[in-house]
Amino acid sequence: MSTTSTTTPLQEARDRIDDIDRRFVELLAERYAVVDDICKLKEEEGNTIKDHDREAELLDHVAAVAEEEGLSPDLVRRLFGEILSHSVERQQERRQEAADDPEGPDSDASEASPVDPSVSTNGHARPAPASTADALSRPENGASDRSYPEVARDDTTDRTVVRVGDVEIGGADPVLIAGPCSVESRDQILRTAEAVAEAGGRLLRGGCFKPRTSPYSFQGLGAEGLDLLAEAGERFDLPVITEVLAPGDVAAVAARADVLQIGARNMQNFPLLKAVGRAERPVMLKRGMMATIEEWLSAAEYIVGHGNPNVFLCERGIRTFESATRYTLDLSSVPVVKERTHLPVVVDPSHAAGERRWVPAMVRAALGAGAHGVMVEAHPTPDEALSDGPQSLSLDRLAEIGQLFASQSA
Ligand code: PEP
Ligand code: MN
Repeated sequence: MSTTSTTTPLQEARDRIDDIDRRFVELLAERYAVVDDICKLKEEEGNTIKDHDREAELLDHVAAVAEEEGLSPDLVRRLFGEILSHSVERQQERRQEAADDPEGPDSDASEASPVDPSVSTNGHARPAPASTADALSRPENGASDRSYPEVARDDTTDRTVVRVGDVEIGGADPVLIAGPCSVESRDQILRTAEAVAEAGGRLLRGGCFKPRTSPYSFQGLGAEGLDLLAEAGERFDLPVITEVLAPGDVAAVAARADVLQIGARNMQNFPLLKAVGRAERPVMLKRGMMATIEEWLSAAEYIVGHGNPNVFLCERGIRTFESATRYTLDLSSVPVVKERTHLPVVVDPSHAAGERRWVPAMVRAALGAGAHGVMVEAHPTPDEALSDGPQSLSLDRLAEIGQLFASQSA
């Protein structure tokens, strides 16, 4: 009996796919070879590895090509976000290899730092880690806690001040960060931004990629929301902060936002922590709702250890047996964290309280506890908000919160 191997149309189509995938990977290899060339050129010119404007341009370009080809621009942005993130990792490895070269100096770790020196850690006694491997294999320095030596503080460590434009988080005055839970429309974010600026807020918040408990709840406007948030921030001269949910979104979010937010649900999303560690934007790390202070600081260590020293923490309440409030605002974490780390810490009373009328008291309490800032949610019409309306302040109440800050720095 003889068997004839006839190729079916399905098999033929699969062969074509295999061929395309092969060319895909070959093209990727070709792309990374160019990345290596760029790395050398940047080093010769003394440039830093990351260039957010260039990344924004590149992502816009591939999204436009996707649109022409009838593909989803968001999908293509995400794919290229991953590719860019690996490019940065590769460039950092190349620089590290160059620094480890016997010709090169091995004593001055900061010289090989992938971190943009213009985004300074001012006051941080230790230099930024030269590389992931270097930072994460560094022996315990005696005074530091074993699981977070880079972020640990001892009596000789200066405090980190995170600079975002001319805003200082961890400086002399506490900072007000405010904005809607989610960016919903141009009108909504512009009206809120105006009120934030008038209230003396220094940073504008607004979620674009929303981590919602239910998959049927509003998920945010995504890339369109980022554009609206950036426009509102520019109009009212407020740097913007927004949450990034996935490693593949880091490049797109960093291209538009001044500060990257890691939400409570992602505090221990280690691939995401590493990805923002490689970004050159400051990061606000929220405390996980079930996380101990030790776990929170260890999560911060991931970011700092991967090359980004510009991290500040945000206490947003933890889950306890109490059900009268949405979470329990653990304000005792503020003095504890200030003792254990040199990183600044701010407080988000909105997500903890879950109810707007309790927010002003918790803002006062947070300032009393010594927080370096407070983040609150506010909305022009809170009862119509697409997310977290019950805890969002009206714009009038936001102005009153601003008064608390004015009296603090007077
Ligand atoms: C937020 O700040 O938008 C948010 C989702 O908060 P959390 O991650 O603290 O729940
Ligand atoms: Mn919210």
